[in-house]
Amino acid sequence: MSSSKDFKQIINILLLVIPGPIEVADDVLYANAHPSMSHVSAEFIPVFGDCIRYIRKVLFTETAQPFLIAGSGTLGWDQVGANLVVGYDALTDRLLEPGEKALVLHSGYFGDSFADALNTYGAEVDQIKAPLGMAVLEAELENSLMAKKYKIVTFTHVDTSTGVLSNAKRIAETVRRISPETLVVLDGVCSVASEEIRFDDWDIDIVMTATQKGLGTPPGLSIVVASKRALDVFLNRQSTPGSYYASWKKWLHIMQAYEQGKAAYFATPPVNLIYAFRESLNRIVNGSPSLEERFRLHREASKKVPLDDNFAANGMTAVYYPENLAAGDLLPRLASRNVVVAGGLHTEIKDKYFRIGHMGITVVDSHRGDLDTLIKALKESITEAQASKA
Ligand SMILES: *Cc1c(COP(=O)(O)O)cnc(C)c1O
Repeated sequence: MSSSKDFKQIINILLLVIPGPIEVADDVLYANAHPSMSHVSAEFIPVFGDCIRYIRKVLFTETAQPFLIAGSGTLGWDQVGANLVVGYDALTDRLLEPGEKALVLHSGYFGDSFADALNTYGAEVDQIKAPLGMAVLEAELENSLMAKKYKIVTFTHVDTSTGVLSNAKRIAETVRRISPETLVVLDGVCSVASEEIRFDDWDIDIVMTATQKGLGTPPGLSIVVASKRALDVFLNRQSTPGSYYASWKKWLHIMQAYEQGKAAYFATPPVNLIYAFRESLNRIVNGSPSLEERFRLHREASKKVPLDDNFAANGMTAVYYPENLAAGDLLPRLASRNVVVAGGLHTEIKDKYFRIGHMGITVVDSHRGDLDTLIKALKESITEAQASKA
């Protein structure tokens, strides 16, 4: 049958090195092909429970509460907006806790999106915008925290439009020093499992992520991990969360039940994806390399990809096109070598650069030779494109 043949050709040949979805290990793909199971069966419940336990390990937290909900990373913004920021009363069509303030540290495209999502739930959002290619300076964060009382401060750990890495530990320290009750929210969709995050030690309140980037699983699951402080803020709110599906009122006892090995239902989880996720997490948490070694390998990989920058993330790189070359010169040449990178995303420079993901098995499984394949294809494509212009 031609469709299955196409599938085989794709998995054997294409190298997907965009900043998510990333390459997925065969064992994870096989786990995804698990026979259909009931989401409340005795076989499935501990698989879900393992995912909850393992994601804590990835983030070095003992006590935080993970929420695993079908959706993409974007659903994490909705969870933060709906559960932590303002209350909406559907009966009176009114915001019950209006004027709650959020501060968004903006290091690229995804800061705008987070701000947009929080606005949707009625938050008053201020942004500190870093210059292109940089993270927000600590002094600016200090000034803002002293000027106003914020309920939450959000930052993009790795902004996927710029490849900028923010210093999570320092941001959390600064917030805690100046405004101890403010919740520190880390958008880790492009950083979890490729950058070190010490949830408990750094005193972070929320890490939100998704399966398809550093966690090496197909897309489809939103992962939000909440500190006790964040959960208390949620539990003490007077009003109903501004979302039905994203409400932790619905999900908290479901997560607790799965972890305790009991059946519970609010909305059907993506059963097969959970099997795949458990497989990938098991490799990350219990397999070789260790977590520490995994982070070191990502740092090493990021040095091989051409960019030298204080703010450079370790799981991806944003690269300006060489002189006189544009997307049309380079991306098709890479594609003809079966290497798939991503185009630009940041609106100011969209056509001037492209993005490379170097996360997960592409980095930690050296037998695959993905980095060598990528760098070779890059060099050949640039040389060929330049020759065609000469
Ligand atoms: C990819 C990404 C998102 C959005 O995740 P989706 O799964 O595409 O919804 C949010 N924030 C960051 C930093 C991302 O890289």
